[in-house]
Amino acid sequence: MKSDESCIFCKILSGAIPAQKVMEDEFSLAFLDINPLAKGHALLIPKGHFVTVDEMPAQAAGEMLKNLPALVRAVKKVTACQGVNVLQNNGRVAHQLVQHVHFHIIPRNENDDFRFNWPAGSYPPGEAEALAQAIRKSIV
Ligand code: 5GP
Ligand code: ZN
Repeated sequence: MKSDESCIFCKILSGAIPAQKVMEDEFSLAFLDINPLAKGHALLIPKGHFVTVDEMPAQAAGEMLKNLPALVRAVKKVTACQGVNVLQNNGRVAHQLVQHVHFHIIPRNENDDFRFNWPAGSYPPGEAEALAQAIRKSIV
């Protein structure tokens, strides 16, 4: 599998850097985030080095994500949280600081300190249809 010697998550995968591992198989590893947004904040990563999710072959993505439900179940059970955000950042503008694909599993509770700015908009007539068609045509 592809590895990058300058990548901090590849170093965790190789054992060069320690991590609090919670789930592992042939294709993916999950471990606790070192600076958690909430207790139990975990990261799920593929064993291959991919920078962003769109770089991943479908098979590698599927093999990693098959472990997501079990991981979320375990984090929910142990932290007794009321909800969970699964977040995945791609690119610096999207707050990706580590250049190896990772899914954040973040326990959520009423009145916790984690806030989103979620500036929901709307489409003028026809724009959503055109955009959806353009995206459909670009799926490869
Ligand atoms: P990003 O902003 O790239 O989506 O999130 C990267 C996450 O990786 C951050 O939440 C950060 O705390 C976590 N992180 C960075 N370096 C390490 C590390 O060496 N060990 C662990 N366990 N987590 C890390
Ligand atoms: Zn890596």
